[in-house]
Amino acid sequence: MENIISIQAYTKPIRLSISNILKFQLKILSHSLYTCITNFFTLLVSPYTIEKGENMIYDYIIIGSGIVGLSTGYALSERYPEARILIIEKENSIAYHQTGHNSGVIHSGIYYKPGSLKAKFSKGGGNRLRAFCDQYGIAYEMCGKVIVATEEEELPLLQNLYERGLQNGLGVSLIGSEQLREIEPHASGLKAIHVKEAGIVNYRRVAEQFAALIQERGGTLLLNTRAETIREDADEMIVECDNGTFRGRFLINCAGLHCDRIAALQGMQTNMKIVPFRGEYYELIPEKHGLVKNLIYPVPNPNFPFLGVHFTRMIDGHVHAGPNAVLSLKREGYRKTDFNLRDFAEVMTYPAFWKIAGQNMSEGWKEIVRSLSKKVFVRNLQRLIPEMREDDLIPSQNGVRAQALTKDGKLVDDFLIVSNEKSIHILNAPSPAATASISIGQAISEQIPGPLRSPIFAT
Ligand SMILES: Cc1cc2nc3c(=O)[nH]c(=O)nc-3n(C[C@H](O)[C@H](O)[C@H](O)COP(=O)(O)OP(=O)(O)OC[C@H]3O[C@@H](n4cnc5c(N)ncnc54)[C@H](O)[C@@H]3O)c2cc1C
Repeated sequence: MENIISIQAYTKPIRLSISNILKFQLKILSHSLYTCITNFFTLLVSPYTIEKGENMIYDYIIIGSGIVGLSTGYALSERYPEARILIIEKENSIAYHQTGHNSGVIHSGIYYKPGSLKAKFSKGGGNRLRAFCDQYGIAYEMCGKVIVATEEEELPLLQNLYERGLQNGLGVSLIGSEQLREIEPHASGLKAIHVKEAGIVNYRRVAEQFAALIQERGGTLLLNTRAETIREDADEMIVECDNGTFRGRFLINCAGLHCDRIAALQGMQTNMKIVPFRGEYYELIPEKHGLVKNLIYPVPNPNFPFLGVHFTRMIDGHVHAGPNAVLSLKREGYRKTDFNLRDFAEVMTYPAFWKIAGQNMSEGWKEIVRSLSKKVFVRNLQRLIPEMREDDLIPSQNGVRAQALTKDGKLVDDFLIVSNEKSIHILNAPSPAATASISIGQAISEQIPGPLRSPIFAT
C-alpha cells in the first residue's frame, strides 16, 4: 500500500528539463531512502504494525476462522474481489473448535423443518460443497446413510421423518430389515430410511481451502488475535484485540462458542445465550472397522436438536461412534474434567437453563450416565449393531456444540442470524452448518452492504 501512495505522489505533471529530471531522481532516491529507514524502525519498534494493518480501514472484519467465518470471507472475496477483508482468530490455527471437531458428515437435510434455513441451506449447501470439493480436489464420498428404528414406538417417528425427507425433495426410501442388512450387514432394526444424498468429508480441509483462496485474493487472516472490545463511531467498527486495534466498515461475528459474547461486546440485545454441549466420541479399533460400512443413525428424539449416538465412517477410514450431548462446564471443554468458572456461572445463573433442565430432567440424567459409563454408551450402540462389544471401542476426540438457548427457555432449532446497519451476527450455527457453510456465507454476502471505496487508511 505504501507503494500505491508513493506512486500517486509522483503523478503530478512535471516539465521535462535536465534539472527537473535530476531533481526528480534525487527525490525518488531520497524518498526510497526515507521509506527504507522508516520501515526499518517501524519493524524494529513494532513488528506487527505493517503486517497486521492496524492503520488500514477494512471493508469487512470477520471474527472467527471456523468454517462459517471462512466461507463468508470466501463468498465476499468472490462477490467483491476488491474488498479489503480481515479475519481475526484467537487460536494459533484455523478450524480449531467446532469445525475441527465434528463428525464430518455432509447432511442431506432430511431432519429439518421444510422452509427452515437449515432445510434450505443444507440441501443447497451440500450441492455447492460437493462442487467446491470437485473444483479443488478435496476428497469426499457420497456414501449414503441409514436411519434405523429399533423399537415399535419409533416407527411413527420414522414415518414422519420419511415424509419430511420427501417434502424436502430428497430421494429417500423406506426399507425393511432385510434390505437394511444388504446395505449395512451388521445393523439390526425393524425398519429404516435409506438416504442416498448423505456423504463424508473433512471439514478442516474445506476450511483450509477457503482460507487459502481468501489470502490469494488479498484478504488478511490474523491468528493469535482475540477480539476483546468493540467500539463504534460514525462510520467504522473498531475492534480492539489483545495485540492491536483494527478498523472496519462492517463487522461479521462468526465466533461460534463465543458469538453471544461478541454480540454483547457490541451492545446487541440478542435474548439468547450459548450453552455448550459436549459431544463425546469413541472410535472402533481397526480390526472392527468392518462392522460399519458407512453411516448408521438411530431415530432422533424430535424434542432435541441432536441426532443421537450413531456410527460414522470418516473420510480417513476411521469409524467413530457418537456423539452424545452433555452439558460442558467450559465452552471449549473437550475433556469431562474441563471447567471454567465464568462459563459455568453464566449457565448456572441463566434462568432459561433451569427451565429446560427442569423440563428434560430424565433425558439430561441419561446423557450424564451415558457419558460416565462406557457400558451404557455401548448398550445404546448395540441397539443398532448388536454384536458391538466394549472392547471394540476406544475413546476418541470430542467436540463441543455452540447451542443457542433463548431467554424464554427454548433451544434454538434453526440457524439464527441477526444484523444491524454495521454488523451481522451468526448466533446459532450448529449442525448442519458445516454442510451448509457455502450457502450461509453466500446468504450473508448478499445481505450486507458492498465495500465503500477510499480512504484506505485511518488518519
Ligand atoms: C460434535 C459435533 C459434531 C458435528 N457434526 C457435524 C457434521 O457431521 N456435519 C455438519 O454439517 N456439521 C456438524 N457439526 C456442526 C459444525 O461443526 C458447526 O456447525 C460448524 O463447525 C460451526 O462453524 P463456526 O465457524 O460457526 O464455529 P467454529 O468452528 O467454532 O469457529 C468459531 C471460531 O471463532 C473463534 N473465536 C471465538 N471467539 C473469538 C474472539 N473473541 N476473537 C477471535 N476469534 C474468536 C474461535 O476460536 C473459533 O475458531 C458438528 C459439531 C459438533 C460440535
